[in-house]
Amino acid sequence: MAEPVELPGRLGILPFRNKVLLPGAIIRIRCTSPTSVKLVEQELWQKEDKGLIGILPVRDAADAMSVGTILSSGSGLDLGDRNSKTQVGASDSHKIVGKSQQEVIQWHTRGVAARALHLSRGVEKPSGRVTYVVVLEGLCRFSVQEISTRGTYYTARVSPLDMTRPEMELVEQDPDFTALSLQFKATAMELISVLEQKQKTGGRTKVLLETVPVHKLADIFVASFEISFEEQLSMLDSVDVKVRLSKATELVNRHLQSIRVAEKITQKVEGQLSKSQKEYLLRQQMRAIKEELGDNDDDEDDVSALERKMQSAGMPANIWKHAQRELRRLKKMQPQQPGYNNSRVYLELLADLPWQTASEEHELDLKAAKERLDSDHYGLVKVKQRIIEYLAVRKLKPDARGAVLCFVGPPGVGKTSLASSIAAALGRKFVRISLGGVKDEADIRGHRRTYVGSMPGRLIDGLKKVAVCNPVMLLDEIDKTGSDVRGDPASALLEVLDPEQNKTFNDHYLNVPYDLSKVIFVATANKAQPIPPPLLDRMEVIELPGYTPEEKLRIAKRHLIPRVLDQHGLSSDFLQIPEVMVKLIIERYTREAGVRNLERNLASLARAAAVRVADQEHLLPLSKDVHQLSSPLLESRLGDSAEVEMEVIPMGDNHEMSSDFRVNSPLIVDESMLEKVLGPPRFDDKETGERVAAPGISVGLVWTAFGGEVQFVEATSMAGKGDLHLTGQLGDVIKESAQIALTWVRSRATELKFAAAKETNLLEGRDVHIHFPAGAIPKDGPSAGVTLVTALVSLFSQTKVRSDTAMTGEMTLRGLVLPVGGVKDKVLAAHRYGIKRVLLPERNLKDLVDVPSAVLASMEILPAKRMEDVLEHAFEGGCPWRQSSRL
Ligand code: ADP
Repeated sequence: MAEPVELPGRLGILPFRNKVLLPGAIIRIRCTSPTSVKLVEQELWQKEDKGLIGILPVRDAADAMSVGTILSSGSGLDLGDRNSKTQVGASDSHKIVGKSQQEVIQWHTRGVAARALHLSRGVEKPSGRVTYVVVLEGLCRFSVQEISTRGTYYTARVSPLDMTRPEMELVEQDPDFTALSLQFKATAMELISVLEQKQKTGGRTKVLLETVPVHKLADIFVASFEISFEEQLSMLDSVDVKVRLSKATELVNRHLQSIRVAEKITQKVEGQLSKSQKEYLLRQQMRAIKEELGDNDDDEDDVSALERKMQSAGMPANIWKHAQRELRRLKKMQPQQPGYNNSRVYLELLADLPWQTASEEHELDLKAAKERLDSDHYGLVKVKQRIIEYLAVRKLKPDARGAVLCFVGPPGVGKTSLASSIAAALGRKFVRISLGGVKDEADIRGHRRTYVGSMPGRLIDGLKKVAVCNPVMLLDEIDKTGSDVRGDPASALLEVLDPEQNKTFNDHYLNVPYDLSKVIFVATANKAQPIPPPLLDRMEVIELPGYTPEEKLRIAKRHLIPRVLDQHGLSSDFLQIPEVMVKLIIERYTREAGVRNLERNLASLARAAAVRVADQEHLLPLSKDVHQLSSPLLESRLGDSAEVEMEVIPMGDNHEMSSDFRVNSPLIVDESMLEKVLGPPRFDDKETGERVAAPGISVGLVWTAFGGEVQFVEATSMAGKGDLHLTGQLGDVIKESAQIALTWVRSRATELKFAAAKETNLLEGRDVHIHFPAGAIPKDGPSAGVTLVTALVSLFSQTKVRSDTAMTGEMTLRGLVLPVGGVKDKVLAAHRYGIKRVLLPERNLKDLVDVPSAVLASMEILPAKRMEDVLEHAFEGGCPWRQSSRL
C-alpha cells in the first residue's frame, strides 16, 4: 500500500460519470476525448511518476433533475464555459451552469486523488488523434473547494480529508473502533473463504487482510464488488473511519449473503436437474470441446450430413415430403430420447435406398452374352439357349415383362452362377436374396416401425446393399419358403413378382411405395413341386439336371481347377491335378448331382499344396538373390541393406538351393496324396454288390432335394404273428406302398410258388420287417412300390436280386406299374453308383430324352408295364416263379 500522499492544493480533475474510484481501487480507462487526453498528457504523461489527478464523481443527467442536458463527463468530457468558476456551497454537490443555461454538470464535492500505475499512448490512424490508456490507483480522499477550468480541462482546489497519523493512532485506541475493525475483518475473512471455495483463490487476499490497515481495507473490499452508485458515494463520503468500517462491514456482509443465496439456488436447481438435462449439459460441453478440437462428428453434424444425403438420394416428390416430415421430427428430438435412433435409422434407409441410381445398361450384345455364358459354364446347352432367348426379348423390348426365370435343380449345378452370369451379360449388378427357411411374411415385407427391433424386408435390404434400382435379383431357394401363423411369404412374393403390382411395392417398414419394376428377378429352387402354384405360374421353370461324371470331369478341368488354383494363389506351375485323379475324386469322394463337393475337394488339395509352397516360399527370393549377386548393381544394394540374406545362403554348397528348386517343379497330385488330404475313399463301385449280397434286398431309385439317389430296401422275416414292421423315417405314402406291396405278394403267393402250393398264408407264424437304410433321413413318396415288391419276392423266394439293377415305379394293388417323377435325376444317380440296368415304368421312357446320351449308352434301360415285368428283369435268369416252374 502506498505511503501517505502529499496532496497538492490543486488537481487536474477527471470527471467520472456515475462511478466512484475509492482509495486502494485500481481502474483501467481509455481516454479519447481532447479534454481528457489533454489532462492525462499534462498532469500524468509529462510529470511521469509524480503526477496526480483528481477523480470526481458526476451525477448522470436523469439523476440530476436539472433542466436540459447535463454536460457529458468522464473520458468524453467537454467543457461548456472555459472560464467559469464555481464556489462550493453547503450542499454536497454543486453545479456548473454552461453558456446555454441548460448545460449543467452536477459535481460531487468529494473525490479521490489517483496516480497512474501504467500509461500507454497511441495514435489513431488515419486521423492522427492521440489516445491514452491509463491504469489508475485511487490514493486518498479530498474535498473540492473550487472548480475551475485550465485550458481544455477542469482543475479543482482541493484539501485532504484523510486523518493524519497521530489522529489515526488516537482512533485506534478507541474500543469502538477495535470492535468495528474486528467485526469487519471477520466478515471479510468469511467472504474470502467463500470465494476461495468457489474459485480456489484468495491466498493473496488473506495476506492483504493482515498487512493493510483496516480503514483502507474497507475501501478495497467494497471496491471489489458491484454496489450502486449511491452506495459508492456514501462510502466515499465516509471520511470518519468508524462510519466507514461499519458501512463496509454492512456492504461486505450483504455481498456475502447474496453469494450464499445464489449458491443455494444453484444447488437447488442443480438437484432438480433431471438426468437427461445433465446429460444434455454434458453433451453441450462435449460438443464445445469437440468443436475446439476440430472434431466434428457430433450428432448435429450427423443430422445435417443425413439431410444432405437425403437431398441427393433422388427420392420421388411424395416420398421426399414424407422424409422431410420425419427429418423435422428428428431435429426436434434429443439424441438420448427414445425413438431418436429409430427415426434416424429409418431416415438413413430412405437416404441409402437407390430411388433412381441405376447401373447403366450397355447395349446388349447377344454374341458376347453367349460367349460369357459359355466361358462361365460348361454344357447346359438348353439352359443357355433359353437364357439367350430371354436376353434377346429384353434387347428388343427392354421393358418387356416376361416371366421370371426360375432355375430348378439339385444343389451345385450352377443355378446361382448362371443368374450372376445373366447380370454380367446385361451389365447390371447382382444381388442374392436367400429365401431358404423364410416362414415370416415380414422377412419379405418388413416389420412395421411400431415393432421393437423392426427392420425392412430382405428385398429392400438387398436393394440398399446393392445401391442400384435395376439389379438382377436372385430369389434363392424360393421353394423353401413356408407359411405359418406369421403369414405367408409366398403371397408377398406374388406381389413382388407381379409386374402390375411391384411398381408400388409396399414394405411395412419403409411405409412408402418402392418401385421394383426395374429389377430383373431370377429364382432358384431345388424342386418345383413345393412352390405354390400361383407363384409357379408367374415363373418360367428351367430345369438343370445333375451332371454325369464325364461332364463333371470337364467342368473340373475347364472351370473348377483354374478357379480353385487362382483362389489359393497357385498356378499349374505349383499344383497339377491329373485327369485320372479328378475322376477318382468324382467316383470315390463325391456322389452328388452338382459339382459343389467336387469343388470343395479340389480346394482341399489346393490348400494342402498352398501350405507346402508357402512353407518354402521364404527360401525362394533368397535363392533368386544368390543368382543375381554377380550383378554389380545388386551387389551394391545388398551391401547396405541385405547383409542377413547374404549370410544365410551357403554360397559354396548348392544343397539348400536345390531344395528350393523343387518347388519350381509342380506338385502333382497322386492317389496317396488324395488319401492323405481327402481321407480314405467314401464311396466305391462295389457298394451295391456288397449290400445286395443276401435275399430280401433290392435297389430303388428315389428323388430328393439333392437330386436322384439310390435307395436300398431291406426285408426280413422272423417268427411272429403276421405283422408288418416298417422303419427308416417313412412317410404315410411310403408306408401305404409297403402295405400294398405285401398284399400283392401275399395275393400272388401261390402263383409265385413261394412255398408249398398248399401253404397260402405267407405270414403264418411270422412277422415281416422292412427297413429303408439311412434311417435318419425322412423318406416318402409312392415310387418305391416296385422296389418293395421286389425285396419281398426276393425274401420269400430266398433269391438274390441282381446287384447291377435299380428300379423305380409306383405300383397299383393290381400290379400295374405307374410312371413317376424325376426320372432323369434317378437315371443319373444310378449312373453315379455304377449301376448298369435301370428298370423304369414304361410310360416314363419319354423322359429319357433329357438324359445325356453318354449315360444312356452306358446302361440298359428296362421298361416295365406290370409288376411281373419288373420281377422278370430284377432276378438273375428271370422271375423266381418261372425258375421254380422250370424246375
Ligand atoms: P447352385 O446355385 O445350383 O446350388 P452354384 O451356382 O452355386 O450352384 O454352383 C456351385 C459351383 O459349381 C459354382 O462355383 C459354379 O460356378 C460351379 N458350376 C456349376 N455348374 C457349372 C458348369 N456347368 N460349368 C462351370 N461351373 C459350374
